[in-house]
Amino acid sequence: MTVATQSFKSRPIDRVHRGIPTSDGAGVKLTRMLGHQGLMQLDPFLMLDYFSSDNANDYIAGFPEHPHRGFETVTIMIEGKMRHGDNKGHSGVIEDGGLQWMTAGRGIVHSEIPEQTDGRMWGFQLWVNLPSELKMTDPGYQEFSRDEIPVDQRDGASLRVLAGSLSNGIQGPARSAAIDPLLLDITLDAGASLTEAIPADLNAFIAVYRGQVDAGGTTVTTPALAVLGTGDQLDLKAGPEGASLLLVAGKPIGEPVARYGPFVMNTQAELQQAVVDFQAGRF
Ligand code: MN
Repeated sequence: MTVATQSFKSRPIDRVHRGIPTSDGAGVKLTRMLGHQGLMQLDPFLMLDYFSSDNANDYIAGFPEHPHRGFETVTIMIEGKMRHGDNKGHSGVIEDGGLQWMTAGRGIVHSEIPEQTDGRMWGFQLWVNLPSELKMTDPGYQEFSRDEIPVDQRDGASLRVLAGSLSNGIQGPARSAAIDPLLLDITLDAGASLTEAIPADLNAFIAVYRGQVDAGGTTVTTPALAVLGTGDQLDLKAGPEGASLLLVAGKPIGEPVARYGPFVMNTQAELQQAVVDFQAGRF
């Protein structure tokens, strides 16, 4: 008699990046974790900005009116509130624990302004590329409050499932068909361990924003982005103060990337067209 066994390979940590302190919008202080010279992209992910400050001067001016074309922006609020509004008449507030997955597609002009004058602003914005056939799609939004995001409560671990599915079938609400994303907001108690499947065909990284974790002998302390190597499983152990982190995974698109500020297309000609269209008010 043979017993079918399935063997899993733990994904090692390939590289750790501390990110680059910078500012964007109207002077919002942030750390660029992805999308800088040391790590321009991790297909299909183009950028990850991390903001964490309880000093209003660091964030109060927000991101006034600006365009996007050719990709998606994913805003993950840990603490604080962000008001957004676009030139298509869509507006709202992303609140603590909430998620906004915005498909810019062929183009929007929007603003993102803190809906608070004190307290902490804490969260991330992730840029997700679109494949060529979707770059000029209609703009759209997926928005979910904390209560609409399922939580898998385990021994010493809490997994908020923003997108994709856990191995136990718990499914997150956000969709992005082209990249089959897995997006988790994970909190681990002190010394807690976590094992979770990550499909082998997804590129993946973790972004640690509280405490520290160890994966395969590499310790990652806050704030840092760790690129995960090949394998089909995530194995983490939290440090003595516990940890919070994002797990971000998605199918690579495998196309040329041409980027110019808030426009991300496949070719320079498409970028030039984006500038022309924006300046002509066609967004
Ligand atoms: Mn924006």
